Amino acid sequence: MDFAENYTCRSVDEIQSAYWHQTAITLHPAVAYFKLDGSLQHRSFVVISNELAHNTSTVWSILDILVPQLKQIDANLEYIHYWTDSPSSQYRNKHIFQVIANHVELFNVAARWNYFEAGHGKGPCDGLGGATKRFADEAIKMGAAVIQDAADFFTWASTSTMREVTFLWLERDACQQKLEVTSCLKIKPIKGTMKYHAVSSNDTRSIIVGETSCYCHDCLTGEVCSHWDLHILDYKRNTTVRDEQQQQQSVPNTTNNDIIHETVDSNTGLQQVACKDGDFVACVYDKKWYIGFVSEEDDDDVNVSFMQASKAMFKWPQP
Ligand SMILES: [Zn+2]
Repeated sequence: MDFAENYTCRSVDEIQSAYWHQTAITLHPAVAYFKLDGSLQHRSFVVISNELAHNTSTVWSILDILVPQLKQIDANLEYIHYWTDSPSSQYRNKHIFQVIANHVELFNVAARWNYFEAGHGKGPCDGLGGATKRFADEAIKMGAAVIQDAADFFTWASTSTMREVTFLWLERDACQQKLEVTSCLKIKPIKGTMKYHAVSSNDTRSIIVGETSCYCHDCLTGEVCSHWDLHILDYKRNTTVRDEQQQQQSVPNTTNNDIIHETVDSNTGLQQVACKDGDFVACVYDKKWYIGFVSEEDDDDVNVSFMQASKAMFKWPQP
């Protein structure tokens, strides 16, 4: 599953539409593969929402409506293997790891999450998202639909000719409530988050992680082979937002926006530098300095995009 690029509402009259406020709609396609009577089958879903934040809370809210659909396909569903891209803001982070750790408690079925590396190419969800938008555009052009917001899109989709796709509605309020739940859950950052490509439920306070996905016979049936490492999640539950605010107030504010905060690791003696998305950084590798900026950050890890040397100049690589 994946977020499609937001759909932007258009009118038939292009000129007129240019003056309209263009409303965006979140589309989250998901394709479920399962075996029925020994043969591999699939079902397509598209979650439609007026929540535009593509973050962990929205992903968790999507699972809330998607998992019951999977149980309708197979009432004896024993295990879910999720496959998604790996952006840390959406799928690969400590909050999703917490959902995986508690998956049995939350959904009454165990699960593991597998991550494609960036640039893996197009998958079935890209096709599903693209087809849904094309059908909507055509319906508008033919005058068969007026879509001005997410609710209109859902109304059109539910009665459209895309009968093989199940469209599901996700209300923004549900995502906002989930945001409150995740902000009350204090989970310690997990070292090495970005190198994990598979995370599996173990119990409510731990997960098992792998640097690569494994689909040996044991792993396919939800068992664990020697490929996995145990990781204890260190988090507190039931901290209220108010407690959180009080804690923040009692801690003196030592943050300085202009200076990157440094601490010294007591084990290695190395300086740890806290950086955030968009920070410009200079790094040493093999005794040479490189200039770059933080393109992605999560927990203790950052991805840095580096400038490339070009003759006497440095330039940013083409995207
Ligand atoms: Zn295995």
